[in-house]
Formats: sequence, C-alpha cells, structure tokens
Amino acid sequence: MLSFVYQMLPSRVIFGAGCLARLPEEIERLGASKALVLSTPEQRQSGCEMVERLGARAVGLFDRAVMHVPLETAEAAREEARRLGADCCVAVGGGSTTGLAKAIALVSELPILAVPTTYAGSEMTPIWGLTEKGRKTTGRDARVLPKTVLYDPCLTVTMPAMLSATSGMNSIAHCVEALYAQDANPIVSMMAEEGIRALAESLPAVVKEPGDLEARSKALYGAWLGGIALGTVGMALHHKLCHTLGGTYNLPHAETHTVVLPHAAAYNAAAAPEALARVARALGASSPAGGLYDLAASLGAPLSLAALGMKEGDLDQAASIAVEKPYYNPRPVARDAVRALLQNAFEGRRP
Ligand code: NAD
Repeated sequence: MLSFVYQMLPSRVIFGAGCLARLPEEIERLGASKALVLSTPEQRQSGCEMVERLGARAVGLFDRAVMHVPLETAEAAREEARRLGADCCVAVGGGSTTGLAKAIALVSELPILAVPTTYAGSEMTPIWGLTEKGRKTTGRDARVLPKTVLYDPCLTVTMPAMLSATSGMNSIAHCVEALYAQDANPIVSMMAEEGIRALAESLPAVVKEPGDLEARSKALYGAWLGGIALGTVGMALHHKLCHTLGGTYNLPHAETHTVVLPHAAAYNAAAAPEALARVARALGASSPAGGLYDLAASLGAPLSLAALGMKEGDLDQAASIAVEKPYYNPRPVARDAVRALLQNAFEGRRP
C-alpha cells in the first residue's frame, strides 16, 4: 500500500534555448538590482557576458570558483559580496560555481539565480559543501536553494564531450538512487525514471556532436530532473562511496560517479528489484547494472577507478571509511561486500 511524504522545493525554473535573454527581468523579479556574478576562471568569458547582459544591475564578477568550495575561496567571495553591496548572486557554471553561490547565501541569505552549464544538478538542491584543510563538510539549508534557475541549453554546447558524458552519468546516479531512496515517493520516482530515459537517449548524440542543440536540450532536461531527485529525497551507498573517494583520494567528481554507478546498482539490485527494473526500463536494457556500464562505455567514459588514478593499496581503507558510520541503503552495507564492489570498480569489470 502506498504511504509517503512529499516535500516540494520552492524554485522557479525557466527552460529553453535562448532563455538567458530573460536574465535581467528575472533579477528584477527577485527584487534585486545589484548582482554579483560568479564563475570559474575557465568560464570567465561567460561571467563577463552575464555582467554585460545585466548592465547597471550587475555590481561585479568574482571568477575564482573552484571544485569543492575551499573555505578561503568562500570567504573571499563573501567579502567581495559585502564590499560591493550585492543583493543577489548569479552563478554561471557547473556545481563548483553554484556551490560558491551557496557558500555566500549560507551566511548572507542573498538570493541565488543559477545558470547551470553542466548536468551536476546542484542548482535544484538545498545541499551546500565547504572544504577546510582537505575535509569537505556538507549540509542542507533552505537558504542556499537557488530561487530561480535559467536552463539554457545554448550554454552547454561548449561543455567538452567527456565532461558531458561523465556529468550526465552523475545526473543518472541521482536518479538511480532516488528510485530506491528511504524516502522515495511516486512523484520523484516518476521524475527520476524520466531523467534516466532523457539522459540515456540524448548523451550518445551529445558526445558525438556537442553542438547538437536538440540533444543538448534533452540532456539538460534530464539533468534538471536528476537535480530535483537529488534535492528532494535521500541518497545511499553510491553517493556515500563517491563522497569518500572524492574527499579522501581526491578523485574527480563526475568521473568517479560514472565508474562506481554500475557497481552500486549491482550491489542493490536484489534488494530493490522494482527500483532497478525501472532503471533498466529507462535505459532500454535487460540488466540495470550492465545497462549503466554499457552506456558509460558507449560514451567513451572512464570505466575503472584505476583509470582515475586510484591506488589498489587504498581500497581496503576506502571500504572501511565508507562503512564507518551507519546510513540507509536498500541492501545492508557490509564491509566485505563493499570491498568487493570497490575491487570490481577498480578493475572496471562489467557487472
Ligand atoms: P565543475 O563545476 O567543477 O566544472 C568543471 C569544469 O568545467 C570547470 O572548469 C568549469 O568552468 C567547466 N565548465 C562547466 N560548464 C562548462 C561549459 N558548458 N563549457 C565549458 N566549460 C564548462 O563540475 P561539476 O561536475 O558541474 O560540479 C562538481 C562539483 O559540484 C563538485 O564539487 C560536487 O561536489 C558539486 N556538486 C554539488 C551538488 C549539490 O547539490 N550541492 C550537486 C552536484 C555536484
């Protein structure tokens, strides 16, 4: 019998090629007039374009966003926002840039308008992260959820093919774990299955032709759904493992998700058969874990932790860290089984 709690997150989403043109009016809609634009150094050009579009409504550009939001970067950006008297942040970029905007909002409550350019999904979540002395702390806080999100697929055509593939697999991971979440509910499950389908159908075309706007649009739509899944329900073993591998061994975020996902799906397949059947259905595959692996392989994405620079000698420790604290997972998290999972992921075996 159905029984669930569904908490909708309050955000305004504008989707479509060319929707970036609405940036100035959407800033006004927030009641703001002094936007601080954020970007990475690599996407400085996009940051400058936002400043130009905003004209008198922009007070500056902070272009030092980096992966995992180091505390020093967050402090520098917070100070810049104070110095310029900013009354909102515009984050143009992937999860790293959105993460920096969240670090500012966490202490100032400045509203965020996000313009995502990857498939990471951070723009749809109230999850923040900050890294101090190599240790990343994360938390949930309603104040950091972007108020407005402009999804313009035109901004994703410059995303390199490999980042598109791995970032897309990262989003599929949000959807897969949402389907067997402890607090799963029918609405989010519907979105998660649709998200997997949209990404699995579009990513091969995106990788083949990064300028294919039709495919880009479908992939970004899938990523939006993946973001909702991540923001609305709890995650499990897969996200825990990726957090451990990224945090302790500095493995790259989206690539790690890509490699681990098929193995996490295999680990949970027997314990969450209905959820995994939906994954297989969305992929058009006979096996969910095999289907995820084959999709990553077809995209030319990395398939083993070894290829990401993980050392085999660290697998024992990684397994121990991943099971240190208890957390929900459909199949009980046992150290030996997790160690075996990591070995398979290290070697890149098809599950
Ligand atoms: P990223 O934001 O670090 O971007 C990777 C690189 O690609 C950067 O140099 C960036 O400037 C560049 N780039 C991004 N979009 C581009 C485009 N369209 N064209 C050209 N270059 C582009 O990568 P990511 O995978 O989006 O984000 C990873 C980070 O986000 C991690 O720190 C992760 O923990 C965090 N994250 C947080 C959440 C959350 O809910 N809080 C969700 C997902 C990811």
